[in-house]
Amino acid sequence: MQLSQPANILRFRKALLDWFETVRRPLPWRTERTVYRTVVSELMCQQTQIDTALPYFERWMRRFPGFEALAAADPDTVLKHWEGLGYYSRARNLQRLAQAIVAEGDHPKSAKDWQKLPGIGPYTAAAIASIHHAEPIAVVDGNVIRVCARLTADERSFKNGTEAGKQLGPIAQSLLNPEQTGAHNEAMMELGALVCRKANPGCLLCPVRDFCEAESNGNAAELPRLQRAKATEESVERVWVEAEGSILLQRIAAKGSQLQGLYELPMPRELGLSAKGKILAKEKRGIGNRRITESIRYRQADSADLKVAEADSSLVWADAEKLKQLPLSGPHRKWIQKHSAAAAGLNPK
Ligand code: SF4
Repeated sequence: MQLSQPANILRFRKALLDWFETVRRPLPWRTERTVYRTVVSELMCQQTQIDTALPYFERWMRRFPGFEALAAADPDTVLKHWEGLGYYSRARNLQRLAQAIVAEGDHPKSAKDWQKLPGIGPYTAAAIASIHHAEPIAVVDGNVIRVCARLTADERSFKNGTEAGKQLGPIAQSLLNPEQTGAHNEAMMELGALVCRKANPGCLLCPVRDFCEAESNGNAAELPRLQRAKATEESVERVWVEAEGSILLQRIAAKGSQLQGLYELPMPRELGLSAKGKILAKEKRGIGNRRITESIRYRQADSADLKVAEADSSLVWADAEKLKQLPLSGPHRKWIQKHSAAAAGLNPK
């Protein structure tokens, strides 16, 4: 059935919503709907699987139950509650957004006004405005892009997701059910997440199969065609410096860095520290399209280390208790746990 026909669009909307009613997951931000819970869930679930985000969401709500509590919280505590989710600018933006809303005394009511707040792009603004204010605006996230590309068998090659969103957004908008904006948008995203999956689309069980051109063509799994950004390889030196049972950590200050405000093992050259020591480990991590190899050298602190640590406010000594409290980047917390025993073995005492 061609989606260019208005009658078929009506059939499509009904098939989608009927299906959604049967599979709708009782997610905590759906069973108890508030603007705050929707905003937190939307930011948390960007770049993070729902199943991974769920325990974080529950913990977040216990500690920061509303915009006021979040606005007034210590920024390190906010980061600590995001630790492990990655893309930490989302946590910083969420707090800045809460502060703006508290200062204003109310939250925006339209997608256009939501986009003026930190961390809110067109996709998140559309989700909030369609769910809470019944604004007839389609959400265009990765799931919706995939569904629209396949429904229309769009075989163009897109530079990236943003470009694909611009090109396929009008399709999503034309399919939007103006009577049930929020439910329709959630259903489209759920369809992409549960059925129209990236590598293995479940076409046989798909509620909108009759409308799908890619399924008839037999090339659904190949769409959308997104060009891959080229990965870059980098090497970084780190030092694991210990003194009296504490380990030296560096707070990342770089503005605009995803990791701003988190703690990691120091990069010696940045700080005027020596890079000497025995190689403790070589670890790999990915940040966006960067593939980074980090070489970690161990040593007991010498007088030069103590002097640098005292003079540089981005450096802190952390014992086991403080390590638990500080917000660390996910890889560095994992590596510190993983190599603690080996580091103790290198300690000469
Ligand atoms: S039929 Fe297949 S490709 Fe088409 S929307 Fe459904 S799951 Fe996606």
